[in-house]
Amino acid sequence: MILIKSSSQIAEMRKANQIVRDTLALLIEHTKPGASTYDLNRLAHDYITSQNAIPSFLNYHGFPASICVSVDSEVVHGIPSKKKILQEGQIVSYDVGAILNGWHGDAARTVGVGLISADCQKLIDVTEQSFFVGVNSIKSGVTRLGDLGYAIQSYAESFGYGVVRELVGHGIGRQMHEDPNVPNFGTPGRGMRLSSGMTIAIEPMITMGTEQVDWLNDGWTVKTRDRKPAAHYENTIAITDNGIEILSL
Ligand code: MG
Repeated sequence: MILIKSSSQIAEMRKANQIVRDTLALLIEHTKPGASTYDLNRLAHDYITSQNAIPSFLNYHGFPASICVSVDSEVVHGIPSKKKILQEGQIVSYDVGAILNGWHGDAARTVGVGLISADCQKLIDVTEQSFFVGVNSIKSGVTRLGDLGYAIQSYAESFGYGVVRELVGHGIGRQMHEDPNVPNFGTPGRGMRLSSGMTIAIEPMITMGTEQVDWLNDGWTVKTRDRKPAAHYENTIAITDNGIEILSL
């Protein structure tokens, strides 16, 4: 069931997403070779709670940290730890969620650690661009989920990249995951129409090689099967009568 939000509910979600956005900025500012992902998780946790919000990933289905930190071939759901220290040349994805006054925000960014290869920078850039290609394609009441997915997929694949199939974006509101599922791939003309009052998280997960992934036996981490790098970019958006608002920018 799709839960349509009023403008005052979207205003609440904007506040939660601004905390997410600011947390991501803080994490990016502290990204450097030698940084401990355990410390980065602590930094994010402390910032979110200082804003009277709750880190939504902590204990979500048992997830053991406040944010996801996924390095290189880790696509999503990487677990921060004292053993996981960022190294020059890696790429790192941060996925952050926060709940404020019962409303959820969710966004993700991928950045380089120190100096990274041109190939990795291009993967990061195209992943971010594919999000905007998707968002810019949305016309309220017209665009279907298949159109949105197709826009993201065809852009990313035009660079020879893979689009992960097993994980998708989602509706968001009072719950982190609401209907509908929002795939980053699709067939034009198929699926539900996107219309005013819907709030969704769009989150392309783009791989340098195969789109196939493995789920590690820590129960969480998702890696590319060929262990080539992957990037992730996500924002929560609201579809309104006045167009699209990206709540986490
Ligand atoms: Mg999400």
